[in-house]
Amino acid sequence: RFNPGFIQMSNHWKNLFPALTNSNIAYLDSASSCQVPEVVIDAVSQYLREGHGNPHRGMYSYSENAEAIFNRCREKVANFLNCQSTKIAFTKGTTESINLVANSLQNKINSDDTILVTQMEHHANLLPWQRLSEQTGARLNLLPVTQNGELKLDNLDNFLADNCAIFAFTHCSNVIGTSNPINQLVSAAKKHHVATLIDGAQAVAHNKVDVLDLDCDFYAFSGHKIYSPGGIGVLYSRQPDSISPLLLGGGIVNRVTDSNYQLTDEITRFEAGSINMPGIVGLDAALDFMTELDIEKIAVHEIRLIDQIRKAIEPTDYKIISHQKSKNIVSIASAQFHSHDIASILADEQVAIRAGHHCAQPCLSALGFKHCVRISVGLYNSEDDLNKLMEALEKVRSYLK
Ligand code: PMP
Repeated sequence: RFNPGFIQMSNHWKNLFPALTNSNIAYLDSASSCQVPEVVIDAVSQYLREGHGNPHRGMYSYSENAEAIFNRCREKVANFLNCQSTKIAFTKGTTESINLVANSLQNKINSDDTILVTQMEHHANLLPWQRLSEQTGARLNLLPVTQNGELKLDNLDNFLADNCAIFAFTHCSNVIGTSNPINQLVSAAKKHHVATLIDGAQAVAHNKVDVLDLDCDFYAFSGHKIYSPGGIGVLYSRQPDSISPLLLGGGIVNRVTDSNYQLTDEITRFEAGSINMPGIVGLDAALDFMTELDIEKIAVHEIRLIDQIRKAIEPTDYKIISHQKSKNIVSIASAQFHSHDIASILADEQVAIRAGHHCAQPCLSALGFKHCVRISVGLYNSEDDLNKLMEALEKVRSYLK
């Protein structure tokens, strides 16, 4: 059914993922979490087999090896985002990175200030700001989403001029796949001296990101969206001195007395407690993997897949609700069937997609939906997966009629 022009490449890439070659599942839920390539699994396994250690904690070889990988990974993340490694803090994921920034503002803003987010946000980039607003009395403004699934920018300047302390927005929507005009949004914020935080969770696997060029204040992402294991994430901060740690504990101080402490000036002050070393090793290997494959080539492949899915679904009575130019997501709604029923039948047919509100309730509500089915692709998907998807969607119609 689909144009076989790129099958060779995609099958080759699929072969790099044991979870996909050892099963006949059509994995179309990478926007949730990616499968992990063999090279990453091997790197984590080798690290654990050869001796796990806590960086900065021991003088023996396991700890020193862990420290070398830890430092190397920070350099690689810095290269990946085009910044200095002193600006990169490791976190558990995007959620923690955003909470860290929001928490830092608690004592810096008050009821004279405002906070600006968008209606397109994942709850991870909404709830921390709602709580900050409750805690400080600062008003939370929301940039609305239009019926085309784009941000309505008419009032942007007014919102930014309204004593705005920070503007937090997603690079790409996790539910409708819109790529936001991030350069334009950062420039507008700069004109009003407003700090910017970009949620890059959905973007980094499909776009080259250059935080220096962007000139944003914060950029957050999670390792598990770029083929690394879960539980590891990143916060880029243009001026790490402007924020304070979310967690306090081991590994972040110069000196501690009975009654007080002095934090280190190093970026490690944001990384209290023992670091998730298997996560670091996985992220380190995943960054090499992505660099070798080349994000731009990956994106070309994924956009072709998305195009094929759209073309196959358009003639059916499923309604496509994702943005026309989405690079990795096709979201659909059905007037007849509940999204969870669709997902359940698809799962029986070995097609993995996600149904529900996708932790983006305000965005879906703005478009007039409570839930939808999200099909999302990764570099390993092939036309076989798309054929399976379409056959399974046909089955839904016959089962549920
Ligand atoms: N923001 C967006 C846009 C996301 O898609 C996600 C994950 N679904 C998050 C934030 C949260 O990421 P994590 O669960 O890895 O912290």
